Amino acid sequence: MTREELLARLAALRQAQVRGRRAPHKPLLLLWLLGRFEAYATTAVGYDDAEEPVSRLINDFGPPVRSPGAARQRAAMPFVHLERDLWDLRDADGREMGPDTPERGAWLREHGAHGRLRPQVERLLAERGTLVAASRLLLDQHFTPALEGPLCEAAGLDLTTLELTVHRQLADRAVRRRQRRADFAEEVLRAYAYTCAMCGYDGRLGRHPVGLEAAHIRWHSQDGPDDLPNALALCALHHALFDLGALGLTPDRRVRVSALYVAGSTAGRAVDALAGRPLAVPRPGSAPPADTHIAWHGAQVFKEGAARRRVPGPAAPGDGA
Ligand SMILES: [Zn+2]
Repeated sequence: MTREELLARLAALRQAQVRGRRAPHKPLLLLWLLGRFEAYATTAVGYDDAEEPVSRLINDFGPPVRSPGAARQRAAMPFVHLERDLWDLRDADGREMGPDTPERGAWLREHGAHGRLRPQVERLLAERGTLVAASRLLLDQHFTPALEGPLCEAAGLDLTTLELTVHRQLADRAVRRRQRRADFAEEVLRAYAYTCAMCGYDGRLGRHPVGLEAAHIRWHSQDGPDDLPNALALCALHHALFDLGALGLTPDRRVRVSALYVAGSTAGRAVDALAGRPLAVPRPGSAPPADTHIAWHGAQVFKEGAARRRVPGPAAPGDGA
C-alpha cells in the first residue's frame, strides 16, 4: 500500500447511514487510533480499553443517540466494521473476527476482541506527513472547522505541533477540499450587521468587528452550501456551542439550548437565558435560515438531551435505539 492508496481508502470509508443520520463513527475511531499512534507508536488496543473513550468521542462529536445503553457502547460499531484492509480484529485466541461479528460491547469484551491497524498502515503513518494528511482528511471530510480544536484534543491528537513539522501543503495536496466561497463570511456578517444572531454581541476593536464568525447551519463538509439560507452570523462562543450541538434552532427560528448543557457561573448560565429567544432577522432582502438546513442541524448535531430525562431502558445494540 502506498501513501496515496491509504489516503484514498480513508476518503472512501463505507458509511453506514443510520436512519439517514451522518455516521462519523469510523472517522472518530480512526482519529482516536491516530492519537494513540502518535503517543505510543502502536495502534494495538483491546475493545475493553477503547470502548469508553471512543464511545465518548462519538457521543460528543457524532449525532445524538437517545438510549444511555446505546451511548455506552457506540464504539462497538466502528470496532467491528472498520474496513479489514486497514484494520485487523482478533479474539482472545488470536482468531480473526470478521465484519459479521455482533456489534455489542458485552460480546466483544467477552471474546477479548482486540484490534490493530495493519502493519503496512502503521508503517505509512510512521511518516509524520502521512499521519497529518490522514488526520486532516478525516477532519475535513466529516466535521466542521470550529470542531477541529476540541476534537483533536479529545482524541489526543496534537495536530498543531505535528503540522509545524510538516508543511501544510503536503496535506492540502492529498485532500481535495471543496472550495469555500471566498466572500461567504463577509456576506453573512454584513447581512446580520456584524452582530451575533443569537445574543446580539457586536464587539469591535477600533473599526473592526472582532469575535464574530459566519457559521454554516448544515456543515460545509456535509454538503452545506455557502449561501445565506445556510448561514448565521454568530459570536465565537455561540458558534462553538452551535457546532457542538449545545445550541440549536427551532423550526420557527428561535434558539434552543440542549438539556445536557449545564453551567454554574453567571456567564455560563447566560447561555440558558438564550432559550426561546428569536434569532436576529437578517437585513431586508437577505434570506433567513432555511427550514431544511435547520432540520438537518436538529437531527445531526443538536444534542436534544432527551436521554437524561428518560428512564434508562435496557441496553440496546448499535445506534438504532
Ligand atoms: Zn453570541
